[in-house]
Amino acid sequence: MSLIVQKYGGTSVASIPCMMHVARKIKATQTAGHDVVVVVSAMGDETDRLESLAYQITDSPTEREMDVLLSTGEQVSIALLSMALQSLGCAAKSYTGFQVGIHTDSAHTKARIEHIDENNIRADLAQGYVVVVAGFQGMDANGNITTLGRGGSDTTAVALAAALKADECQIYTDVDGVYTADPRIVSQARCLPRVTFDEMLEVASQGAQVLQIRAVEFAGKYRVPLRVLSTFKEGAGTLVTFEEKGMEQPIVSGVTYCREEARLIIRSVPDKPGIAGRILGPISEANIEVDMIIKNLGDDGNTDFTFTVHRRDFDRARAILEKINLELNAGGILSDAKIAKLSIVGVGIRSHAGIASTMFEVLGKEGINIQLISTSEIKVSVVVDEKYLELGVRTIHEAFRLHEEPHEEDYEHRLRA
Ligand code: ADP
Ligand code: ASP
Ligand code: MG
Repeated sequence: MSLIVQKYGGTSVASIPCMMHVARKIKATQTAGHDVVVVVSAMGDETDRLESLAYQITDSPTEREMDVLLSTGEQVSIALLSMALQSLGCAAKSYTGFQVGIHTDSAHTKARIEHIDENNIRADLAQGYVVVVAGFQGMDANGNITTLGRGGSDTTAVALAAALKADECQIYTDVDGVYTADPRIVSQARCLPRVTFDEMLEVASQGAQVLQIRAVEFAGKYRVPLRVLSTFKEGAGTLVTFEEKGMEQPIVSGVTYCREEARLIIRSVPDKPGIAGRILGPISEANIEVDMIIKNLGDDGNTDFTFTVHRRDFDRARAILEKINLELNAGGILSDAKIAKLSIVGVGIRSHAGIASTMFEVLGKEGINIQLISTSEIKVSVVVDEKYLELGVRTIHEAFRLHEEPHEEDYEHRLRA
């Protein structure tokens, strides 16, 4: 008998009819002879609603209480889904993260899973239960409720699949797989039958919501077979695979975007060893993650230093930088919270020099100015004005003909390389 972990996202359980549909799918999986562990998210936009309640009270809710609040959404879902399963004659038991024993560190609102007690789950499965676990939550060593960051139910599912050595972890969502671009922006985007872990890591880290990045990291580390599929449409979805020698891979697999970026520049700082640490040290001490970093060459012994952060950290980062500006007697701060990052991802980028320049050219032809550039082996990212986000994504998608099945010349032939 095989063991399958299925995760259903917010849209998949947004209403009671959706919940019943999900229950029927789970029952069918069990009837087909599998043990099933289900991870479920809060209903629809419930997590956003809960978050907005907190912000009606204060601009800076404590993270511990935020976790207590946000974790309630998933508790509603597990109870209702278990009832839905029971109403179909399917034995089911629900567990919060705390009850099942999902142990995390104490980093409230972005905790990391450290280990999972899987004994309860195994005992229930042995008795024929479907086990329904609340996604996105755990507890720290002191018994505090923690959450895993937005989109964290994906990570719960993959971590459970790793702990239980499941045969497959299936992420059911409102799209039928991983696309060449967000189908909400590019209507011609194509569903990919498979992507490699490396590509999926970049796609997730460059903003595509479809899988939380930590879930992909976990799946890669523990070699969890991972598939993204639609709750509402039959199909094989997208399988996340490991790159193998000789495997044909498209040079460019997809385009992603991240709307939530902000850019900060501190001008005319002394161009001396240690300056980057002097500026970014206090930023990282404030638990603010920095994405792109650019230091210009100065000609008068001074330099401009530019970096980007998540937009939610913009005000805090700016306040820290204002202080550093005074301390260093620098030339002032420039900032822009209305920027977006566009990226192309593909394993062939590392061996095809023309890819980045094609991207820059087509954006230029559309009159889209590139403010910052960063590259990795399999990714090229640019920062542009937020108003060009949709146009930029569509332009790049078209330039690389991602709506078409790849042709012979679009493949990276790793054997021949
Ligand atoms: P869930 O609530 O099921 O976790 P999410 O909203 O977190 O679902 O993720 C699914 C959404 O991710 C899709 O509706 C889609 O708009 C978005 N998305 C962004 N980029 C991609 C992509 N490359 N492929 C598929 N979906 C994407
Ligand atoms: N409900 C949480 C969120 O909206 C976790 C998840 O859906 O994965 O971010
Ligand atoms: Mg999600």
